[in-house]
Amino acid sequence: MEPSEIKVLVVDDEPSMLRIIGAWLQGAGYQVRQATDGQEALHAIEADCPHFLLTDWEMPRLDGPALCRRVRAMSLPHYLYIIFLTGKGAREMVIQGLELGADEFLTKPVNSTELLARMRAGTRVLELEQRLSWAARTDSLTGLYTQRFFYEMLQREFHRAKRYHLPLSCVMMDIDFFKRINDIYGHTAGDTVLKAVADLLAANCRSADVVCRYGGEEFCVLLPETVEVNAATWAERLRRLISELPINCGDKVLHVTASFGTAQAHDDIQTPEALVDAADQALLCAKQSGRDRVVRYESLSDADELTLQEAQRYEDLFRGICARHVMTPLVACLRQDDSVGQAAEFFLRLRINSTPVVDEEGLLVGMLSEKDLLGAMISLDCWRLPVREVMKQHVIVYEEDTPIRTIYEFLCRVTIRRVVIACNKRPTGTISRGTLLRWFRNLVISKGLIEDPDLLHREPVDPHRSKHRLAQTARELTRQAQQLEQRVYRDDEDIVPYVIGSATGMQELVTDLLAYARYANAGSAAVSAQMYSEGASVD
Ligand code: GH3
Ligand code: MG
Ligand code: MG
Ligand code: MG
Repeated sequence: MEPSEIKVLVVDDEPSMLRIIGAWLQGAGYQVRQATDGQEALHAIEADCPHFLLTDWEMPRLDGPALCRRVRAMSLPHYLYIIFLTGKGAREMVIQGLELGADEFLTKPVNSTELLARMRAGTRVLELEQRLSWAARTDSLTGLYTQRFFYEMLQREFHRAKRYHLPLSCVMMDIDFFKRINDIYGHTAGDTVLKAVADLLAANCRSADVVCRYGGEEFCVLLPETVEVNAATWAERLRRLISELPINCGDKVLHVTASFGTAQAHDDIQTPEALVDAADQALLCAKQSGRDRVVRYESLSDADELTLQEAQRYEDLFRGICARHVMTPLVACLRQDDSVGQAAEFFLRLRINSTPVVDEEGLLVGMLSEKDLLGAMISLDCWRLPVREVMKQHVIVYEEDTPIRTIYEFLCRVTIRRVVIACNKRPTGTISRGTLLRWFRNLVISKGLIEDPDLLHREPVDPHRSKHRLAQTARELTRQAQQLEQRVYRDDEDIVPYVIGSATGMQELVTDLLAYARYANAGSAAVSAQMYSEGASVD
Protein backbone atom coordinates (compact mmCIF):
# COMPACT_ATOMS: atom_id res chain seq x y z
CA MET A 1 0.00 0.00 0.00
CA GLU A 2 1.33 3.42 -0.99
CA PRO A 3 0.71 6.40 1.37
CA SER A 4 -1.45 7.96 -1.34
CA GLU A 5 -3.91 5.03 -1.02
CA ILE A 6 -4.00 5.29 2.78
CA LYS A 7 -6.70 7.31 4.57
CA VAL A 8 -5.83 8.76 7.98
CA LEU A 9 -8.22 10.38 10.45
CA VAL A 10 -6.56 12.63 13.07
CA VAL A 11 -8.66 13.51 16.14
CA ASP A 12 -7.62 16.15 18.68
CA ASP A 13 -9.35 19.03 20.43
CA GLU A 14 -6.12 21.06 20.15
CA PRO A 15 -6.14 22.92 16.77
CA SER A 16 -2.34 23.27 16.77
CA MET A 17 -1.87 19.49 17.12
CA LEU A 18 -4.25 18.87 14.22
CA ARG A 19 -2.36 21.38 12.11
CA ILE A 20 1.12 19.98 12.81
CA ILE A 21 0.33 16.28 12.51
CA GLY A 22 -1.87 16.91 9.47
CA ALA A 23 0.97 18.77 7.76
CA TRP A 24 3.52 15.99 8.46
CA LEU A 25 1.22 13.25 7.16
CA GLN A 26 0.18 15.19 4.07
CA GLY A 27 3.85 15.94 3.44
CA ALA A 28 4.50 12.16 3.40
CA GLY A 29 1.68 11.67 0.89
CA TYR A 30 -1.15 10.33 3.13
CA GLN A 31 -4.82 11.29 2.64
CA VAL A 32 -5.70 13.15 5.83
CA ARG A 33 -9.04 14.11 7.44
CA GLN A 34 -9.50 15.75 10.84
CA ALA A 35 -12.01 15.75 13.69
CA THR A 36 -12.05 17.78 16.91
CA ASP A 37 -13.65 15.20 19.21
CA GLY A 38 -14.69 11.54 19.38
CA GLN A 39 -18.26 12.18 18.31
CA GLU A 40 -17.19 13.94 15.14
CA ALA A 41 -14.65 11.16 14.51
CA LEU A 42 -17.37 8.48 14.74
CA HIS A 43 -19.44 10.24 12.08
CA ALA A 44 -16.38 10.55 9.84
CA ILE A 45 -15.62 6.81 10.25
CA GLU A 46 -19.21 5.82 9.51
CA ALA A 47 -19.20 7.95 6.37
CA ASP A 48 -15.88 6.63 5.04
CA CYS A 49 -13.74 4.19 7.00
CA PRO A 50 -10.07 5.31 7.22
CA HIS A 51 -7.09 2.95 7.55
CA PHE A 52 -5.51 4.79 10.48
CA LEU A 53 -7.08 6.57 13.43
CA LEU A 54 -4.70 8.87 15.32
CA THR A 55 -6.51 10.04 18.43
CA ASP A 56 -5.91 12.23 21.44
CA TRP A 57 -6.83 10.79 24.88
CA GLU A 58 -8.75 13.62 26.54
CA MET A 59 -11.38 15.35 24.46
CA PRO A 60 -14.83 16.88 25.08
CA ARG A 61 -18.10 14.99 24.26
CA LEU A 62 -16.49 11.61 23.52
CA ASP A 63 -12.91 10.97 24.69
CA GLY A 64 -10.21 8.78 23.11
CA PRO A 65 -10.83 5.58 25.14
CA ALA A 66 -14.61 5.76 24.51
CA LEU A 67 -14.00 6.37 20.81
CA CYS A 68 -11.67 3.36 20.68
CA ARG A 69 -14.25 1.13 22.35
CA ARG A 70 -16.99 2.29 19.98
CA VAL A 71 -14.83 1.77 16.89
CA ARG A 72 -13.93 -1.79 17.88
CA ALA A 73 -17.64 -2.58 18.25
CA MET A 74 -18.40 -1.31 14.73
CA SER A 75 -18.59 -3.57 11.73
CA LEU A 76 -16.12 -1.94 9.34
CA PRO A 77 -15.15 -2.95 5.80
CA HIS A 78 -11.48 -3.43 6.83
CA TYR A 79 -9.17 -3.23 9.84
CA LEU A 80 -8.69 0.22 11.37
CA TYR A 81 -5.24 0.72 12.92
CA ILE A 82 -5.56 2.88 16.06
CA ILE A 83 -2.71 5.01 17.39
CA PHE A 84 -3.13 6.97 20.66
CA LEU A 85 -1.39 10.29 21.21
CA THR A 86 -0.77 10.37 24.99
CA GLY A 87 1.05 12.37 27.63
CA LYS A 88 4.50 11.25 28.86
CA GLY A 89 5.03 8.20 31.03
CA ALA A 90 1.41 7.21 31.32
CA ARG A 91 1.83 3.46 31.79
CA GLU A 92 -1.78 3.11 33.04
CA MET A 93 -3.04 4.75 29.87
CA VAL A 94 -1.06 2.32 27.71
CA ILE A 95 -2.47 -0.69 29.53
CA GLN A 96 -6.03 0.65 29.38
CA GLY A 97 -5.59 1.62 25.71
CA LEU A 98 -4.30 -1.82 24.73
CA GLU A 99 -7.22 -3.45 26.54
CA LEU A 100 -9.62 -1.28 24.55
CA GLY A 101 -8.10 -2.39 21.27
CA ALA A 102 -5.46 0.25 20.50
CA ASP A 103 -2.49 -0.83 18.33
CA GLU A 104 0.14 1.78 19.08
CA PHE A 105 1.04 4.78 21.29
CA LEU A 106 2.89 7.99 20.55
CA THR A 107 4.03 10.21 23.38
CA LYS A 108 3.49 13.94 23.14
CA PRO A 109 5.37 15.99 22.09
CA VAL A 110 5.27 13.84 18.96
CA ASN A 111 8.39 13.46 16.87
CA SER A 112 7.72 13.52 13.11
CA THR A 113 10.30 10.84 12.21
CA GLU A 114 8.88 8.47 14.82
CA LEU A 115 5.31 9.18 13.67
CA LEU A 116 6.13 8.28 10.06
CA ALA A 117 8.06 5.15 11.12
CA ARG A 118 5.05 3.99 13.21
CA MET A 119 2.80 4.65 10.21
CA ARG A 120 4.98 2.37 8.04
CA ALA A 121 4.93 -0.35 10.73
CA GLY A 122 1.13 -0.05 10.90
CA THR A 123 0.90 -0.29 7.11
CA ARG A 124 2.66 -3.69 7.22
CA VAL A 125 -0.03 -4.93 9.62
CA LEU A 126 -2.78 -3.55 7.38
CA GLU A 127 -1.28 -5.23 4.31
CA LEU A 128 -1.17 -8.56 6.08
CA GLU A 129 -4.78 -8.15 7.22
CA GLN A 130 -5.78 -7.23 3.67
CA ARG A 131 -4.17 -10.35 2.25
CA LEU A 132 -5.82 -12.60 4.84
CA SER A 133 -9.27 -11.12 4.37
CA TRP A 134 -8.87 -11.24 0.59
CA ALA A 135 -8.10 -14.95 0.86
CA ALA A 136 -11.10 -15.50 3.13
CA ARG A 137 -13.51 -13.67 0.85
CA THR A 138 -12.28 -14.90 -2.53
CA ASP A 139 -12.82 -18.29 -4.09
CA SER A 140 -9.47 -19.55 -5.35
CA LEU A 141 -10.73 -21.20 -8.56
CA THR A 142 -13.01 -18.47 -9.89
CA GLY A 143 -11.78 -15.33 -8.10
CA LEU A 144 -15.41 -14.57 -7.13
CA TYR A 145 -16.51 -13.86 -3.56
CA THR A 146 -17.03 -16.81 -1.23
CA GLN A 147 -20.41 -17.72 0.20
CA ARG A 148 -19.29 -16.49 3.61
CA PHE A 149 -18.43 -13.02 2.36
CA PHE A 150 -21.60 -12.98 0.29
CA TYR A 151 -23.64 -13.38 3.48
CA GLU A 152 -21.73 -10.53 5.13
CA MET A 153 -22.59 -8.27 2.21
CA LEU A 154 -26.15 -9.59 2.12
CA GLN A 155 -26.71 -8.61 5.77
CA ARG A 156 -25.51 -5.10 5.03
CA GLU A 157 -27.47 -4.66 1.80
CA PHE A 158 -30.64 -6.23 3.18
CA HIS A 159 -30.81 -3.86 6.13
CA ARG A 160 -29.90 -0.88 3.97
CA ALA A 161 -32.69 -1.79 1.54
CA LYS A 162 -35.26 -2.12 4.35
CA ARG A 163 -34.16 1.09 6.06
CA TYR A 164 -34.21 3.26 2.93
CA HIS A 165 -37.06 1.39 1.17
CA LEU A 166 -34.82 0.46 -1.76
CA PRO A 167 -35.41 -2.60 -3.92
CA LEU A 168 -32.94 -5.48 -3.58
CA SER A 169 -32.92 -8.62 -5.70
CA CYS A 170 -31.07 -11.90 -5.57
CA VAL A 171 -30.32 -14.30 -8.42
CA MET A 172 -29.37 -17.94 -7.88
CA MET A 173 -27.79 -19.78 -10.78
CA ASP A 174 -26.80 -23.40 -11.25
CA ILE A 175 -25.07 -24.96 -14.23
CA ASP A 176 -27.18 -27.67 -15.87
CA PHE A 177 -25.96 -31.29 -15.94
CA PHE A 178 -22.52 -30.22 -14.78
CA LYS A 179 -21.74 -33.63 -13.34
CA ARG A 180 -21.73 -35.01 -16.89
CA ILE A 181 -18.92 -32.61 -17.86
CA ASN A 182 -16.79 -33.97 -15.03
CA ASP A 183 -17.76 -37.54 -15.85
CA ILE A 184 -17.12 -37.30 -19.59
CA TYR A 185 -14.25 -34.80 -19.90
CA GLY A 186 -12.68 -34.97 -16.42
CA HIS A 187 -12.42 -32.68 -13.45
CA THR A 188 -9.94 -30.28 -15.07
CA ALA A 189 -12.36 -29.60 -17.90
CA GLY A 190 -15.03 -29.08 -15.24
CA ASP A 191 -12.84 -26.48 -13.55
CA THR A 192 -12.26 -24.70 -16.87
CA VAL A 193 -16.02 -24.48 -17.42
CA LEU A 194 -16.56 -23.11 -13.91
CA LYS A 195 -13.88 -20.47 -14.48
CA ALA A 196 -15.31 -19.45 -17.87
CA VAL A 197 -18.85 -19.10 -16.51
CA ALA A 198 -17.58 -17.17 -13.47
CA ASP A 199 -15.65 -14.75 -15.70
CA LEU A 200 -18.74 -14.16 -17.80
CA LEU A 201 -20.81 -13.41 -14.70
CA ALA A 202 -18.21 -11.03 -13.29
CA ALA A 203 -17.82 -9.22 -16.61
CA ASN A 204 -21.56 -8.58 -16.81
CA CYS A 205 -22.16 -7.11 -13.36
CA ARG A 206 -22.18 -3.55 -12.08
CA SER A 207 -19.64 -2.59 -9.42
CA ALA A 208 -22.36 -2.52 -6.74
CA ASP A 209 -23.46 -6.09 -7.51
CA VAL A 210 -22.11 -8.90 -5.35
CA VAL A 211 -21.27 -12.09 -7.27
CA CYS A 212 -20.28 -15.18 -5.38
CA ARG A 213 -19.58 -18.83 -5.96
CA TYR A 214 -22.24 -20.20 -3.67
CA GLY A 215 -20.96 -23.76 -3.81
CA GLY A 216 -19.85 -26.33 -6.43
CA GLU A 217 -21.38 -25.14 -9.72
CA GLU A 218 -23.85 -22.77 -8.09
CA PHE A 219 -23.53 -18.98 -8.17
CA CYS A 220 -25.44 -16.28 -6.34
CA VAL A 221 -25.66 -12.63 -7.32
CA LEU A 222 -27.02 -9.78 -5.22
CA LEU A 223 -28.38 -6.86 -7.22
CA PRO A 224 -28.87 -3.77 -5.02
CA GLU A 225 -31.43 -1.17 -6.05
CA THR A 226 -32.92 -3.56 -8.60
CA VAL A 227 -36.52 -4.77 -8.82
CA GLU A 228 -37.16 -8.41 -9.62
CA VAL A 229 -38.36 -7.82 -13.17
CA ASN A 230 -35.04 -6.14 -13.99
CA ALA A 231 -33.08 -8.84 -12.18
CA ALA A 232 -34.89 -11.39 -14.35
CA THR A 233 -34.03 -9.43 -17.50
CA TRP A 234 -30.39 -9.42 -16.43
CA ALA A 235 -30.53 -13.16 -15.69
CA GLU A 236 -32.13 -13.82 -19.08
CA ARG A 237 -29.29 -11.99 -20.79
CA LEU A 238 -26.72 -14.03 -18.84
CA ARG A 239 -28.58 -17.25 -19.60
CA ARG A 240 -28.32 -16.52 -23.31
CA LEU A 241 -24.64 -15.49 -23.06
CA ILE A 242 -23.78 -18.70 -21.20
CA SER A 243 -25.60 -20.90 -23.71
CA GLU A 244 -23.72 -19.23 -26.56
CA LEU A 245 -20.31 -19.30 -24.85
CA PRO A 246 -17.73 -21.59 -26.50
CA ILE A 247 -15.46 -22.99 -23.77
CA ASN A 248 -12.08 -24.25 -24.94
CA CYS A 249 -10.87 -27.32 -23.06
CA GLY A 250 -7.71 -28.63 -24.73
CA ASP A 251 -8.74 -29.73 -28.22
CA LYS A 252 -12.47 -29.64 -27.46
CA VAL A 253 -14.99 -26.81 -27.39
CA LEU A 254 -17.65 -27.33 -24.74
CA HIS A 255 -21.07 -25.72 -24.31
CA VAL A 256 -23.18 -25.53 -21.18
CA THR A 257 -26.48 -24.05 -20.13
CA ALA A 258 -27.60 -22.77 -16.73
CA SER A 259 -30.85 -22.30 -14.79
CA PHE A 260 -31.72 -19.16 -12.83
CA GLY A 261 -34.07 -18.22 -9.99
CA THR A 262 -34.71 -14.60 -9.01
CA ALA A 263 -36.33 -13.01 -5.96
CA GLN A 264 -36.85 -9.55 -4.50
CA ALA A 265 -36.82 -8.52 -0.84
CA HIS A 266 -40.52 -7.61 -0.57
CA ASP A 267 -42.32 -7.14 2.77
CA ASP A 268 -43.08 -10.83 3.10
CA ILE A 269 -39.35 -11.62 2.99
CA GLN A 270 -38.23 -10.78 6.47
CA THR A 271 -34.66 -12.03 6.71
CA PRO A 272 -31.63 -12.01 4.38
CA GLU A 273 -31.68 -15.81 4.41
CA ALA A 274 -35.32 -15.82 3.30
CA LEU A 275 -34.35 -13.81 0.22
CA VAL A 276 -31.75 -16.39 -0.82
CA ASP A 277 -34.22 -19.14 -0.03
CA ALA A 278 -36.85 -17.53 -2.28
CA ALA A 279 -34.36 -17.29 -5.17
CA ASP A 280 -33.42 -20.90 -4.50
CA GLN A 281 -37.07 -21.99 -4.69
CA ALA A 282 -37.38 -20.22 -8.02
CA LEU A 283 -34.18 -21.95 -9.22
CA LEU A 284 -35.63 -25.29 -8.21
CA CYS A 285 -38.69 -24.52 -10.33
CA ALA A 286 -36.41 -23.60 -13.24
CA LYS A 287 -34.69 -26.97 -12.91
CA GLN A 288 -37.94 -28.87 -12.53
CA SER A 289 -39.57 -27.20 -15.47
CA GLY A 290 -36.82 -28.13 -17.91
CA ARG A 291 -33.57 -26.19 -17.13
CA ASP A 292 -31.86 -23.46 -19.25
CA ARG A 293 -34.41 -20.87 -18.11
CA VAL A 294 -35.09 -18.04 -15.67
CA VAL A 295 -37.92 -18.34 -13.13
CA ARG A 296 -39.06 -15.40 -11.03
CA TYR A 297 -40.12 -16.11 -7.46
CA GLU A 298 -43.04 -13.71 -7.84
CA SER A 299 -44.26 -15.77 -10.79
CA LEU A 300 -44.67 -18.78 -8.52
CA SER A 301 -47.90 -17.27 -7.26
CA ASP A 302 -50.58 -18.08 -9.81
CA ALA A 303 -51.82 -14.48 -10.06
CA ASP A 304 -48.69 -13.26 -11.78
CA GLU A 305 -50.49 -12.23 -14.94
CA LEU A 306 -52.21 -9.47 -13.00
CA THR A 307 -49.71 -6.64 -12.78
CA LEU A 308 -50.17 -3.89 -10.26
CA GLN A 309 -50.75 -1.38 -13.04
CA GLU A 310 -53.69 -3.43 -14.19
CA ALA A 311 -54.87 -3.58 -10.62
CA GLN A 312 -55.03 0.25 -10.48
CA ARG A 313 -58.18 0.04 -12.56
CA TYR A 314 -60.01 -1.60 -9.68
CA GLU A 315 -59.31 1.18 -7.27
CA ASP A 316 -62.94 2.36 -7.24
CA LEU A 317 -64.24 -1.06 -6.33
CA PHE A 318 -62.03 -1.17 -3.26
CA ARG A 319 -62.65 2.36 -2.05
CA GLY A 320 -63.78 2.64 1.56
CA ILE A 321 -63.56 -1.09 2.16
CA CYS A 322 -61.17 -2.39 4.75
CA ALA A 323 -60.02 -5.76 6.04
CA ARG A 324 -62.70 -5.92 8.74
CA HIS A 325 -65.49 -5.84 6.12
CA VAL A 326 -64.12 -8.70 4.05
CA MET A 327 -62.33 -11.04 6.44
CA THR A 328 -63.58 -14.44 7.46
CA PRO A 329 -63.98 -14.02 11.22
CA LEU A 330 -62.07 -16.45 13.41
CA VAL A 331 -64.41 -18.72 15.31
CA ALA A 332 -61.63 -20.61 17.06
CA CYS A 333 -57.88 -20.80 16.85
CA LEU A 334 -55.11 -23.02 18.09
CA ARG A 335 -52.96 -22.35 21.13
CA GLN A 336 -49.23 -22.79 20.94
CA ASP A 337 -49.28 -25.50 23.61
CA ASP A 338 -51.89 -27.59 21.80
CA SER A 339 -50.39 -30.75 20.35
CA VAL A 340 -49.86 -31.61 16.69
CA GLY A 341 -52.53 -34.30 17.14
CA GLN A 342 -55.07 -31.76 18.40
CA ALA A 343 -54.17 -29.45 15.54
CA ALA A 344 -54.73 -32.22 13.01
CA GLU A 345 -58.16 -32.97 14.52
CA PHE A 346 -58.95 -29.27 14.41
CA PHE A 347 -58.06 -29.01 10.71
CA LEU A 348 -59.93 -32.14 9.73
CA ARG A 349 -63.04 -31.28 11.69
CA LEU A 350 -63.30 -27.67 10.50
CA ARG A 351 -62.12 -28.55 7.00
CA ILE A 352 -59.59 -25.72 7.00
CA ASN A 353 -55.96 -25.86 5.93
CA SER A 354 -54.33 -23.21 8.07
CA THR A 355 -55.00 -21.20 11.21
CA PRO A 356 -53.42 -18.52 13.39
CA VAL A 357 -51.82 -19.72 16.64
CA VAL A 358 -52.08 -17.71 19.87
CA ASP A 359 -50.38 -17.75 23.29
CA GLU A 360 -52.10 -17.99 26.69
CA GLU A 361 -53.13 -14.34 26.46
CA GLY A 362 -54.67 -14.77 23.04
CA LEU A 363 -51.88 -12.81 21.32
CA LEU A 364 -50.84 -13.95 17.86
CA VAL A 365 -47.58 -15.94 17.90
CA GLY A 366 -47.58 -17.88 14.63
CA MET A 367 -49.40 -19.60 11.85
CA LEU A 368 -49.89 -23.30 11.35
CA SER A 369 -50.71 -24.91 8.01
CA GLU A 370 -51.41 -28.44 6.85
CA LYS A 371 -48.00 -28.33 5.24
CA ASP A 372 -46.35 -27.69 8.64
CA LEU A 373 -48.20 -30.69 10.04
CA LEU A 374 -47.11 -32.86 7.12
CA GLY A 375 -43.54 -31.75 7.77
CA ALA A 376 -43.84 -32.97 11.37
CA MET A 377 -45.18 -36.39 10.34
CA ILE A 378 -41.89 -38.20 10.35
CA SER A 379 -42.43 -40.22 13.50
CA LEU A 380 -45.39 -41.38 15.57
CA ASP A 381 -44.19 -39.23 18.46
CA CYS A 382 -44.84 -36.08 16.48
CA TRP A 383 -48.50 -36.33 17.46
CA ARG A 384 -47.52 -35.18 20.96
CA LEU A 385 -45.27 -32.27 19.90
CA PRO A 386 -46.60 -28.83 20.82
CA VAL A 387 -47.81 -26.77 17.87
CA ARG A 388 -45.26 -24.12 18.91
CA GLU A 389 -42.45 -26.32 17.57
CA VAL A 390 -43.83 -26.86 14.09
CA MET A 391 -45.65 -23.59 13.33
CA LYS A 392 -44.27 -20.72 11.27
CA GLN A 393 -43.35 -17.76 13.40
CA HIS A 394 -43.35 -15.21 10.62
CA VAL A 395 -46.95 -14.34 9.96
CA ILE A 396 -48.20 -11.69 7.61
CA VAL A 397 -50.53 -9.58 9.72
CA TYR A 398 -52.68 -6.63 8.79
CA GLU A 399 -54.76 -4.48 11.12
CA GLU A 400 -58.55 -4.59 10.78
CA ASP A 401 -58.69 -1.10 9.31
CA THR A 402 -56.17 -1.82 6.52
CA PRO A 403 -57.63 -0.83 3.13
CA ILE A 404 -58.59 -4.02 1.32
CA ARG A 405 -56.65 -2.90 -1.72
CA THR A 406 -53.36 -3.27 0.20
CA ILE A 407 -54.17 -6.88 1.01
CA TYR A 408 -55.44 -7.55 -2.50
CA GLU A 409 -52.15 -6.34 -4.00
CA PHE A 410 -50.16 -8.40 -1.54
CA LEU A 411 -52.06 -11.61 -2.30
CA CYS A 412 -51.74 -10.93 -6.04
CA ARG A 413 -47.99 -10.75 -5.76
CA VAL A 414 -46.83 -13.46 -3.42
CA THR A 415 -47.18 -17.20 -3.04
CA ILE A 416 -48.68 -16.81 0.42
CA ARG A 417 -52.37 -17.57 0.14
CA ARG A 418 -53.70 -16.11 3.34
CA VAL A 419 -53.04 -13.23 5.73
CA VAL A 420 -54.13 -12.79 9.33
CA ILE A 421 -56.21 -9.81 10.40
CA ALA A 422 -55.64 -8.59 13.92
CA CYS A 423 -56.84 -6.01 16.40
CA ASN A 424 -54.26 -5.09 19.06
CA LYS A 425 -52.14 -8.15 18.22
CA ARG A 426 -55.12 -10.50 18.71
CA PRO A 427 -56.15 -12.34 15.57
CA THR A 428 -59.77 -11.60 14.63
CA GLY A 429 -59.97 -13.06 11.14
CA THR A 430 -58.21 -14.19 8.02
CA ILE A 431 -58.32 -13.15 4.39
CA SER A 432 -57.36 -15.66 1.75
CA ARG A 433 -57.47 -15.50 -2.02
CA GLY A 434 -60.74 -17.44 -1.74
CA THR A 435 -62.17 -14.82 0.64
CA LEU A 436 -61.43 -12.09 -1.87
CA LEU A 437 -62.92 -14.10 -4.68
CA ARG A 438 -66.13 -14.68 -2.73
CA TRP A 439 -66.31 -11.03 -1.77
CA PHE A 440 -65.89 -10.02 -5.39
CA ARG A 441 -68.59 -12.44 -6.54
CA ASN A 442 -70.98 -10.96 -3.97
CA LEU A 443 -70.08 -7.44 -5.08
CA VAL A 444 -70.87 -8.31 -8.68
CA ILE A 445 -74.25 -9.81 -7.72
CA SER A 446 -75.16 -6.85 -5.55
CA LYS A 447 -74.37 -4.46 -8.41
CA GLY A 448 -76.67 -6.41 -10.69
CA LEU A 449 -73.82 -6.96 -13.14
CA ILE A 450 -74.63 -10.62 -13.55
CA GLU A 451 -78.04 -12.19 -13.66
CA ASP A 452 -78.11 -14.60 -10.81
CA PRO A 453 -80.40 -17.39 -12.13
CA ASP A 454 -81.80 -17.78 -8.60
CA LEU A 455 -83.05 -14.22 -8.56
CA LEU A 456 -85.00 -14.54 -11.81
CA HIS A 457 -87.83 -16.51 -10.32
CA ARG A 458 -88.17 -14.40 -7.24
CA GLU A 459 -90.89 -11.83 -6.87
CA PRO A 460 -89.96 -8.44 -8.32
CA VAL A 461 -88.17 -6.23 -5.81
CA ASP A 462 -90.00 -3.19 -4.56
CA PRO A 463 -87.34 -0.48 -4.68
CA HIS A 464 -88.91 1.78 -2.03
CA ARG A 465 -89.04 -1.03 0.42
CA SER A 466 -85.70 -2.63 -0.30
CA LYS A 467 -84.05 -1.20 2.81
CA HIS A 468 -86.90 -2.52 4.85
CA ARG A 469 -86.48 -5.91 3.17
CA LEU A 470 -82.73 -5.81 3.86
CA ALA A 471 -83.41 -5.24 7.54
CA GLN A 472 -86.04 -8.00 7.56
CA THR A 473 -83.69 -10.46 5.91
CA ALA A 474 -80.89 -9.61 8.32
CA ARG A 475 -83.31 -10.17 11.23
CA GLU A 476 -84.33 -13.54 9.85
CA LEU A 477 -80.69 -14.47 9.44
CA THR A 478 -80.00 -13.56 13.07
CA ARG A 479 -83.01 -15.61 14.17
CA GLN A 480 -81.83 -18.68 12.28
CA ALA A 481 -78.28 -18.30 13.61
CA GLN A 482 -79.61 -18.06 17.17
CA GLN A 483 -81.76 -21.14 16.71
CA LEU A 484 -78.73 -23.01 15.47
CA GLU A 485 -76.74 -21.86 18.48
CA GLN A 486 -79.44 -23.14 20.86
CA ARG A 487 -79.65 -26.55 19.17
CA VAL A 488 -75.91 -27.10 19.33
CA TYR A 489 -75.85 -28.16 23.00
CA ARG A 490 -78.85 -30.51 22.89
CA ASP A 491 -77.44 -33.96 23.37
CA ASP A 492 -80.56 -35.88 22.35
CA GLU A 493 -80.24 -35.61 18.57
CA ASP A 494 -77.88 -35.86 15.65
CA ILE A 495 -76.91 -32.27 14.99
CA VAL A 496 -75.39 -32.69 11.53
CA PRO A 497 -78.56 -32.77 9.39
CA TYR A 498 -79.89 -29.79 11.29
CA VAL A 499 -76.68 -27.79 10.71
CA ILE A 500 -76.68 -28.60 7.00
CA GLY A 501 -80.34 -27.59 6.62
CA SER A 502 -79.93 -24.45 8.60
CA ALA A 503 -76.74 -23.47 6.72
CA THR A 504 -78.53 -23.90 3.39
CA GLY A 505 -81.37 -21.67 4.55
CA MET A 506 -78.95 -19.02 5.68
CA GLN A 507 -77.11 -19.18 2.36
CA GLU A 508 -80.41 -18.40 0.60
CA LEU A 509 -80.93 -15.44 2.89
CA VAL A 510 -77.44 -14.16 2.14
CA THR A 511 -78.17 -14.27 -1.58
CA ASP A 512 -81.37 -12.31 -0.89
CA LEU A 513 -79.36 -9.74 1.07
CA LEU A 514 -77.07 -9.22 -1.91
CA ALA A 515 -80.01 -8.89 -4.27
CA TYR A 516 -81.78 -6.30 -2.09
CA ALA A 517 -78.51 -4.43 -1.61
CA ARG A 518 -78.63 -3.75 -5.33
CA TYR A 519 -81.60 -1.44 -4.80
CA ALA A 520 -80.83 -0.17 -1.33
CA ASN A 521 -79.30 3.10 -2.53
CA ALA A 522 -82.10 3.69 -5.07
CA GLY A 523 -82.80 7.32 -5.79
CA SER A 524 -80.17 7.88 -8.40
CA ALA A 525 -81.65 8.07 -11.88
CA ALA A 526 -79.37 5.38 -13.22
CA VAL A 527 -80.46 2.82 -10.69
CA SER A 528 -84.15 3.69 -11.14
CA ALA A 529 -83.89 3.44 -14.90
CA GLN A 530 -82.24 0.07 -14.58
CA MET A 531 -85.05 -1.10 -12.29
CA TYR A 532 -87.77 0.04 -14.68
CA SER A 533 -86.10 -1.70 -17.53
CA GLU A 534 -86.05 -4.86 -15.45
CA GLY A 535 -89.79 -4.46 -14.84
CA ALA A 536 -89.73 -3.70 -11.13
CA SER A 537 -93.03 -2.35 -9.84
CA VAL A 538 -93.27 0.99 -8.05
CA ASP A 539 -95.72 1.85 -5.26
P1 GH3 B 1 -28.49 -30.18 -12.44
O1 GH3 B 1 -28.78 -29.76 -13.83
O2 GH3 B 1 -29.67 -30.80 -11.78
O3 GH3 B 1 -27.90 -29.08 -11.63
O4 GH3 B 1 -27.41 -31.34 -12.53
P2 GH3 B 1 -25.89 -31.27 -12.14
O5 GH3 B 1 -25.22 -32.47 -12.67
O6 GH3 B 1 -25.32 -29.95 -12.53
O7 GH3 B 1 -25.98 -31.24 -10.56
P3 GH3 B 1 -25.27 -32.00 -9.41
O8 GH3 B 1 -25.49 -31.14 -8.23
O9 GH3 B 1 -25.73 -33.42 -9.36
O10 GH3 B 1 -23.73 -32.02 -9.77
C1 GH3 B 1 -22.88 -31.01 -9.42
C2 GH3 B 1 -21.49 -31.50 -9.65
O11 GH3 B 1 -20.55 -30.44 -9.54
C3 GH3 B 1 -21.06 -32.53 -8.66
C4 GH3 B 1 -19.64 -32.17 -8.28
O12 GH3 B 1 -18.77 -33.24 -8.51
C5 GH3 B 1 -19.30 -31.04 -9.22
N1 GH3 B 1 -18.40 -30.04 -8.64
C6 GH3 B 1 -18.57 -29.36 -7.49
N2 GH3 B 1 -17.54 -28.51 -7.28
C7 GH3 B 1 -16.67 -28.69 -8.31
C8 GH3 B 1 -15.39 -28.11 -8.66
O13 GH3 B 1 -14.84 -27.26 -7.97
N3 GH3 B 1 -14.81 -28.54 -9.80
C9 GH3 B 1 -15.38 -29.48 -10.59
N4 GH3 B 1 -14.74 -29.84 -11.69
N5 GH3 B 1 -16.56 -30.05 -10.30
C10 GH3 B 1 -17.20 -29.66 -9.17
MG1 MG C 1 -7.12 16.75 24.46
MG1 MG D 1 -26.05 -28.21 -11.64
MG1 MG E 1 -25.95 -27.82 -7.95
